[in-house]
Amino acid sequence: MSTTIKLVAAAAVAALAFSGTTTGASAQNQRFISIGTGGVTGVYYPTGGAICRLVNRTRKKTGIRCSAESTGGSIYNINTIRAGELEFGVAQSDWQYHAYNGTSKFKKAGAFKDLRAVFSVHPEPVTILARDGTGIKNVTDLKGKRVNIGNPGSGTRGTWEVMEAALGWKRTDLKLAAAMKSAETGAAMCDGKIDAYFWLVGHPSALTQESLATCDAHLVNATGAAIDGLVKKWPFYRNATIPAGMYNNKADVKTFGVGATFVTSAKVPADVVYVVVKAVFDNFGAFKKLHPAFRNLKEKEMISDSLSAPLHAGAAKYYKEKGWMK
Ligand code: GLU
Repeated sequence: MSTTIKLVAAAAVAALAFSGTTTGASAQNQRFISIGTGGVTGVYYPTGGAICRLVNRTRKKTGIRCSAESTGGSIYNINTIRAGELEFGVAQSDWQYHAYNGTSKFKKAGAFKDLRAVFSVHPEPVTILARDGTGIKNVTDLKGKRVNIGNPGSGTRGTWEVMEAALGWKRTDLKLAAAMKSAETGAAMCDGKIDAYFWLVGHPSALTQESLATCDAHLVNATGAAIDGLVKKWPFYRNATIPAGMYNNKADVKTFGVGATFVTSAKVPADVVYVVVKAVFDNFGAFKKLHPAFRNLKEKEMISDSLSAPLHAGAAKYYKEKGWMK
């Protein structure tokens, strides 16, 4: 027994020596990386926080210091990575696809061929909350109502616009189209300034929980011919449910959605991306515990599902070492 203790103590001393001397990263070798996320009550922000927490555990050794920033959401994150002002970001799979292919909202800017996928995270169903008494039961009931459709730069706003066109609606079909950031929408609905808010988010999410705890409100289905058409037309949309009992909903909420994905640029060095990916997957059990929306994540699905841009070389290197891909 005493031998074991001595061995452990020796290892601890070795670890200290390792981190405190020239073998560790020196001040000049420090590298800062930022992850663009979303509103603080969403799931992107805690996702960025979870990734950084694991990356920062090894910062003495790797020299990489990670921080997660609250931002306007998916499209802002992709554009800011393209501008070289963010190294990583969380983005909806529909906007990853359109950015890489130069379609939809990315037609004008052109294809972002340096966009790289790192892994996918949680599913993000279209989530609509409405005040009780508004008569809103399905997405089609939003017509003529006061609805938050998402701030410019959010993936939410982009997907609203796609859905609006599929429904054959004009913006004036809503009584009010509000463009608040996600973090402001719960209070606006509960204060009676809007009837409903629309967004794409993982579950459970703090904002959804908070809204349903603050005022009488309910989740709304998003079904019908227009939605079926979108799911049929595009590879990244799929039918989705918010399971019964997730919040105050007694039945499954039937909707459609995308996946949240973690992206970067080909310009970010492979060794940096490798360190980030290794931090997450070497500690996968810990990672999954950092947010309840991560509960059902599986490594092999995360490296292929919902990804349309090529994998970054630094990520592929780790996945090959693990034998998860050839
Ligand atoms: N999917 C949302 C967007 O890109 C963000 C969701 C979140 O903050 O978790 O606008």
